[in-house]
Amino acid sequence: MGMISRVWCGECGYSEHFRSGIGMRHGSLDRCISEFPYWERQKLESLREEKALSDYHFSFVLAQCQTCLNLMDKPFIEFQFQNGSREHSGMCCTYCESESVRLIHEDRLDAARCPYCKEKSLEQQLEGMWD
Ligand SMILES: [Zn+2]
Ligand SMILES: [Zn+2]
Repeated sequence: MGMISRVWCGECGYSEHFRSGIGMRHGSLDRCISEFPYWERQKLESLREEKALSDYHFSFVLAQCQTCLNLMDKPFIEFQFQNGSREHSGMCCTYCESESVRLIHEDRLDAARCPYCKEKSLEQQLEGMWD
C-alpha cells in the first residue's frame, strides 16, 4: 500500500498532501507504465522493447523542481536490463516544465526548501494509506 503524507512549512503555513510508495494496482509493469504521461510512456515502452528486462522498481516519489521549487509526487521507474545496464524515467516539473527535478528522500526533507517562502523549514507527517 502507498502512503499519504502531509508536508507543511513551519514558517509560512504552506501545506500539501503527497502520495508515495506503490498501490495494489501496480502489480504489473503495464499498470506502472500507465501512470506516466504520454511522451514518457512512449520512451519507456521503446526501452522495454529494445533490451531484455531483468527487473524493475516502481514507486511514487516526492520530488522538487530546482527551478521553481514546486513540490510534487511523481511516478518513478527504474529498469534493470539483462546486460547489467539501467535506465530510469525522466522527471519534468508539472508547473514550469523544467527538467531540473530532484528526488527528495523522506529522511532528507530538511534539505528541501518551502516552495512558498523558500525557507528550509518543511516537516512531514504520515496521514494515511492509498489504494
Ligand atoms: Zn518547476
Ligand atoms: Zn514556507
